[in-house]
This record gives sequence, C-alpha cells and structure tokens, in this order.
Amino acid sequence: MTRWRYAAATDTGLVRETNQDAVFVDDALAIVADGMGGHAAGEVASAMAVEAIYNSFLTRPTIEGLLSGVQDANREVLSDAKVNPERFGMGTTVMVVGLTHDGSGVTTPTMLHVGDSRAYQLRDGALRQLSADHSVAEEWVRMGRLTSEEALTHPRRHQLTRAIGVDDNIEIDVMSLHVQSGDRLLLCSDGLSNELDPAHLAALAGAPGPLDAAVTNLIDAAKVSGGRDNISAVLLEFDEAHEPTRSINTTMSPAPPPVADTVPSRPRKRGPRLTWRVAVGALLLAAVVGAFFFIVHWYAYSTYYLAPAGKYIGVYEGQPNGVMWYKPKLVWKTGDLMSQLEPAAQLAIKATIAEPSITAARNYAYYLRGLYMASRPPTTTTTVPSTTTTTKSAVPTTTVTHATTTVAAKG
Ligand code: MG
Repeated sequence: MTRWRYAAATDTGLVRETNQDAVFVDDALAIVADGMGGHAAGEVASAMAVEAIYNSFLTRPTIEGLLSGVQDANREVLSDAKVNPERFGMGTTVMVVGLTHDGSGVTTPTMLHVGDSRAYQLRDGALRQLSADHSVAEEWVRMGRLTSEEALTHPRRHQLTRAIGVDDNIEIDVMSLHVQSGDRLLLCSDGLSNELDPAHLAALAGAPGPLDAAVTNLIDAAKVSGGRDNISAVLLEFDEAHEPTRSINTTMSPAPPPVADTVPSRPRKRGPRLTWRVAVGALLLAAVVGAFFFIVHWYAYSTYYLAPAGKYIGVYEGQPNGVMWYKPKLVWKTGDLMSQLEPAAQLAIKATIAEPSITAARNYAYYLRGLYMASRPPTTTTTVPSTTTTTKSAVPTTTVTHATTTVAAKG
C-alpha cells in the first residue's frame, strides 16, 4: 500500500496583489493550480479546478476519476466564464498526483497535468523533472526548433499552449509514477520553478528534516530570489516501498471513458464533518424559522378589538388588518344591532376599538349596549335567557331584552 506524508504552502509573493494559486493535499491527492485572469478571475478558476478534481476523485479514486475531475474543471470554468463576462478569459493550470486504485487492490501514484505547473521527483539528492511544460518554448524544444538551454530564456517560455478554461477539448498528460520509500515529489507553480534553479530546488526540497520546514524554505527562497509571482509548493514523501504495475507513459486523453466505480472508495474523511455541519445548520435554521413564526403568531393574536360583525357588535381577536396570513378571528358578538346604538358609538365601533383582553372587549360592548338601553324608553320587562353560552363573562346587571349569542368560546 503506497502512502505518503505531505506538506504544502502557497504565498502571494512580493509583487502580485492577490494569490491566484490554489493548493490542496491530503493522504491520497495533491493538487497545485495556478489561476490566470483579471478581476480575481484567476482565483476563481484555480479554486473551481481544485474542487472539481477533489470531488471527482473522492467518488472515483481511479485514473478515470482524476481524468474526469480535470474534464469537469475545464467544463465548469468555461461555463462560469460564459455567465460571468467579467471573468471571461480566466483559466488555470493543474498539476495533480493521486494514489489511484487499479481494481486489484494496488495503488499507484498517478500524475496528471495541464499547463506549466511542475512535478519533480527527488531520490538520493537527485532531482528529475517529471512534467513537460505546456508552453510555446517547451513545445518548440520537443519539435527540435529550440534547445533546452534556449528555452530557459526564450520570451515565449511563459506562453501556455494548454490550460483549463480555454477550449472545450482539453488534452491532459497522464503518467503513472515509479516511486520507492524515501522518494519525494515536489509539485509547484511557476512562481517557484522560475525563481529557483534545479540545484537550488533539489537542495531545499530534499533537505533532511520535517517536510513543513522544507516547504517553508522553498517559499522563502523564491521570495528572496524576487517573488515575482504567486508561489506554491506541495512536498510528498513516500514511506513504503511501491511496486508499480505500469511503466511510465504519457497519454493524451481528451475524453475519459465512463468507468463503473468498482474499486473501493478511499475513506471519506470529510463526510462526517460535512454532515455534522449540515445538521447543525439545519437545526439553527429551523430554530430561527420557528421563532419567527412564533413571534408573528403571538403578535397577530395579542389583542382584541370591537368592530361590526354584520349587523351586530363583534369582538375580534387579532390585529384589525391582520398580520401576514394571520387574519383576525370573530370570537364573540352581541345580539344588539349596530343600528340601535348611538351614532357616535356606531362610528367608534366602525373605526374599531382596541381592548387588551376578550373580557375588556365584552365589557365595553355591554357598556355601549347600556348607553343604548339608558336612552331607550322601556318596552318590556321580560328577560330572555341567553342561548348556548360557554364563555364565562360577567353578565351585566342591566335588564336584558335581547338574546346573547356566543359565536365561539375563547378562553
Ligand atoms: Mg504563476
């Protein structure tokens, strides 16, 4: 079982205002992405690429999963630039090394890259560049138009021939790596490889001691040399012997075929944490929403008021105009006709009269009825009992000549 220890760092450098590089590393996947594009678009592109590759490899830890992740990154960066014109032209390099499963329980370090971010292998103090830059100058070297020495200073050495986010069809270099215990791999953006020559890189990346210290020393040295670009470095050290199952090869693979996920997925370390956060977030959201509805409901039905209920005097629970979808409810009405009240009382009731409780509202209705009765010549002394009354309210001492009807009992 191939395993590695790792350390990584990224730095804005001394000239650029923002860091458009993105790095990611865990115990099975390492990514360096060097974004490009104004208005922070480079940062968006590199971050999108890292996320897409990570997500794909998480569900499919195979070469096909890595290829699919790079394809996803290309597609997502392109589509994002289409809907966000300010990010038009953004792109990113990607340098990826993943421990891929081959279906028989064997894991192999596999490197994929697009652009000029690099991978180096260190063994016994010797540094070997594994990746070939996708730049005009390097392409010309491969075509025999330039020597390697001429390419080092050629003005088109930084002009990329491939990058994520440029074209729908992306060519990806793929390489299965031979590693043995003690080997180190250095993945970096050009902010490191442009500032430090291979001998310097080898001395710092291969220095004995903690990987963190080596990465820090690499970043610091690149800044001492000028720090003209964003600087990113990931250092991997293999701690067990690995017997590769494939020879080193380079493959142009514009479209990885769909492959069923038949190999065991690597542990989803972030799964439980994500689930836990989602659960806490959902609970908090539910609590906030619940509190909101509770407060609105309480406010909506926190008062009573008198108003006409058809021909009669009604007592309503709620706010006169309602609150959101909580409409006032008719909870009681007298048997007295509105038309029998004094005009001033009719007007007051039509304008609604607020009362703090149903008892106070009823009492005020009785009071208004009392005024009516006081001004009305007596016509009868017969008392008509109330019908179906379930509310316990104070019955006025005034002689009652009209039936009292309870519409709804509201304690
Ligand atoms: Mg760069």
